[in-house]
Amino acid sequence: MAKANFDSGVKSFITGECTITVRFPVDWKDRADVSCIQCPYLSSNERMCQLNKQPVQYPKQYIGWDCPLEFKEGEENDGE
Ligand code: SF4
Repeated sequence: MAKANFDSGVKSFITGECTITVRFPVDWKDRADVSCIQCPYLSSNERMCQLNKQPVQYPKQYIGWDCPLEFKEGEENDGE
């Protein structure tokens, strides 16, 4: 198959999708740490989410305001 040539522009796109799972730890007293610092998608400088490329404000305490993860009801960090 010939390599694509975009000299005349892009005709269309082929979409790839994936579903990811992030597991946040819960201690033996049932206290969860649902914060960016526990997430493998936090940038190495701890300032940005690598999934949505948005800044994270308090990565050791919370998930980012625009965190793209969806949680089951009652499983999101309540800030305690
Ligand atoms: S915002 Fe959500 S997906 Fe991004 S690093 Fe934080 S916990 Fe992970």
